[in-house]
Amino acid sequence: MNKAFSTRAIHAGRADFIEKGLHAPPIDLSSTYPTPDLDEAARSFDSLVSGDEPLGSFIYQRLFNPTTDRFERALAELEGAEDAAAFSSGMAAISAVLLAAKSRGSHVVAVRPIYGTADHLLTSGLLGVSVSWATQDGIAEAIRPDTCLVIIESPANPTLELVDIASVVRQAGAVPVMVDSTFATPVLQQPLSLGASLVLHSATKFLGGHGDVLAGVVAGPHALVRDIKHVRAATGGLLHPLAAYLLHRGLQTLSLRVERAQSTAIGLAARLAADPRVTGVRFPSLPGQDPRGLLGRQMTGPGSILSFELSSDSPAVMRDFLGALEIITPAVSLGSTDSLIQPPAALTHRVVDVQARESVGISQGLLRLSVGLEDPADLWADIDRALAEVASRLEYGVRVPALTP
Ligand SMILES: *Cc1c(COP(=O)(O)O)cnc(C)c1O
Repeated sequence: MNKAFSTRAIHAGRADFIEKGLHAPPIDLSSTYPTPDLDEAARSFDSLVSGDEPLGSFIYQRLFNPTTDRFERALAELEGAEDAAAFSSGMAAISAVLLAAKSRGSHVVAVRPIYGTADHLLTSGLLGVSVSWATQDGIAEAIRPDTCLVIIESPANPTLELVDIASVVRQAGAVPVMVDSTFATPVLQQPLSLGASLVLHSATKFLGGHGDVLAGVVAGPHALVRDIKHVRAATGGLLHPLAAYLLHRGLQTLSLRVERAQSTAIGLAARLAADPRVTGVRFPSLPGQDPRGLLGRQMTGPGSILSFELSSDSPAVMRDFLGALEIITPAVSLGSTDSLIQPPAALTHRVVDVQARESVGISQGLLRLSVGLEDPADLWADIDRALAEVASRLEYGVRVPALTP
């Protein structure tokens, strides 16, 4: 039976519940597991360190944990993937993907903007991987014989630009494409169905959804995920079972949360776009912001993150605006039940080269708003009142350039 996403999200990773007499997933906190049969343990150890299934004892938590495994199976099912690997953070997941890809070469092609620390990880060469930054139409030209991976993020953090996944996959040819789909979640977009090799999430964001878990997860075909699990077994970074439990629980309400936040965000984006006190509102469903027609084709809706600038480039005005908000919390992170706002140039993307930042539209005055599950009218009232507090210092008619072509 071909079940809808919301049904699968409730039952994923729970197929054995009736047989085992369970209603909620058990949390197994064991750091080690008994190995009374040494021959069997040796076989299982060999299998696990290569990134394969346990063949008997789970041996040791860094190699395998059944609670984390359940969450991985559930996420893989929702992304239409054969397998998934969960990590202690999104950055740990990206690092393991890069280290696993290095067996094929040490050059990566990526499209800016991406999450600030991911940009930093690639630009710094910290993992011995070099990067060529390309536009989404320039992937083919940027690929070299030693290119091991193409990395894109759609919608992009923090400018909400949509990257055409199918087009990037075509241009990449035999090189695997990894899509950071954190902003979209599997509710709105499933990159593997568009030909991507790997889909990655900072599960800290929407998948956890309540601002209380740090995690990352990457899903794809067995062969690639096996190599990633091999790296994870050797370097560490397995997601802790308590966090995995919370994430698995969060998946059950994922579609409800994503859809409700999205409908609120659509309303707020429209009000902000029509308000002279703000400028450069970025949100995929606003007129002119989806030139490739990807909404409906690649992504079912625009999501719930938007960005905008105040009609002023004064840091004091921004500070006072943020200080006047009462419901929306000034903080990094996103995809939580509560609405969060932050200036990427000063915080999440401060590690990105200034010129590179400006060239993709991450100006000093850009604000990224993650719309939460509060009442839509209360959220607008909060923004409206904070804008009113700084209104006398705004420069109406002075449109701060924010949009990149
Ligand atoms: C937050 C984020 C990351 C990093 O994830 P952590 O869980 O913070 O390590 C990666 N990509 C995107 C798009 C993010 O928003």
